[in-house]
Amino acid sequence: MKIVVITPEFYNYGSMIVAGILKDLGHDVTLQKDFKDPRADIVFISLHSTIHLIKYRREINQIKAFKVLGGPVSTNPQLIFRYLDIDLVVRGEAEDKIDKIIEYLEGKREKTSIPGVAFKEDDEIIATPSTQEDSIEHPLPLIPSDISKENIRGANVYIETHRGCVGNCTFCQVPCFFGRKVRSRSLKSIIEEVKEFMRKGARRIAISGGTGTLYGSRKFKNINEDAFIELLKKVSELTRPINLTIPDIRVDLVTDDILETIARYTNGWIYYGIESGSPKILKKMKKGISVDDVSEAVEMARKHGVKVAGSFIVGYPGEEEEDFQATLELADELMLDDYFVSIAEPIPGTALAEEVKKLPFHENPVYMDSIDGRFKSLAAERAFKFLLDSYVFRSIPVPVTDKLFKSIIDEVKSQEEHIRTVTAMIKGLI
Ligand code: SF4
Repeated sequence: MKIVVITPEFYNYGSMIVAGILKDLGHDVTLQKDFKDPRADIVFISLHSTIHLIKYRREINQIKAFKVLGGPVSTNPQLIFRYLDIDLVVRGEAEDKIDKIIEYLEGKREKTSIPGVAFKEDDEIIATPSTQEDSIEHPLPLIPSDISKENIRGANVYIETHRGCVGNCTFCQVPCFFGRKVRSRSLKSIIEEVKEFMRKGARRIAISGGTGTLYGSRKFKNINEDAFIELLKKVSELTRPINLTIPDIRVDLVTDDILETIARYTNGWIYYGIESGSPKILKKMKKGISVDDVSEAVEMARKHGVKVAGSFIVGYPGEEEEDFQATLELADELMLDDYFVSIAEPIPGTALAEEVKKLPFHENPVYMDSIDGRFKSLAAERAFKFLLDSYVFRSIPVPVTDKLFKSIIDEVKSQEEHIRTVTAMIKGLI
């Protein structure tokens, strides 16, 4: 069968895995980053952002082949069927369903016997019961020849080392999509995969899985230091430390040995999910960390010479001016090496999305009036103020030129537009 796997904007890791599995099953598979004339019997589409349901609606609906849709957006099939004309939605992880989907298309099984999918029948959405495999091993991904040109936050590719996160953060899709139990791949298969990516031209590799240091963890909130250290050591022997990054780590899941390993075997950066400086908002987010945990983790990283970037969220429902000021004060005190600031996004499937669905507009900072009038909302005004200040209070202050000032405004406006559109989608207004 001729199969095309489509992943818009960048080659997301999941789509390369799906294409690799299909190739392993003996099919003629092409992976493409756009919707250009996908002449095929089956098209697998992997969407990683809610906004894609609207952004690529026309292109997807025009495709004539049998269409299977998956990826992080698939947690809410109702939302997908509202916008897209799709034959089958793969809910959650796809690996264990692909062979069964092909068997169905070859007439060897019923659609209802494929686990964890959804489809429409007489205007009714039917969802089959989900399953989740303990093993997350898979064949080698199908790696495109232009992988070296990819730039996803500085890396050519984010390789998945494990799935699941012990955290339960209300805004995060990881526990909804992969669950809270950590499942890790074998080091052997990760190494083979890294070699294959490098053979195809990838140089800068990020290893991920929600919270990086959970690799190899077997008990709840337990770090397997040996497994994590061995992982970084072996991967960096291939990539060289300068080309290896380990994004997204919880501040309460680091130790001195882990930080020493990060300093030695990676590009020397750590990315902490800090989110807020307000204990009230951290509690609402179910982040499970305190402001003191943040300060301690930053201090520990510095002791090992590791540079620290922090991710923050503003405009979370219930965030009042004093909560925002507490976040700014914490960010200022920490003097990090880099800051990422996002407006709270209600990703379908998360507790935050459920809250935002019911929240009246006048109580949602994404719709509350901005005070200075530069943006439509208070949330955007806060994101702007935070980003602007962050150039001053970072470890090495950066002068805010006209060009930088304009790029901050553009970034915030684009985030604001994005979040308001997603909010309208989940509220069923568009
Ligand atoms: S700790 Fe990170 S990956 Fe885990 S649930 Fe929270 S935000 Fe998500």
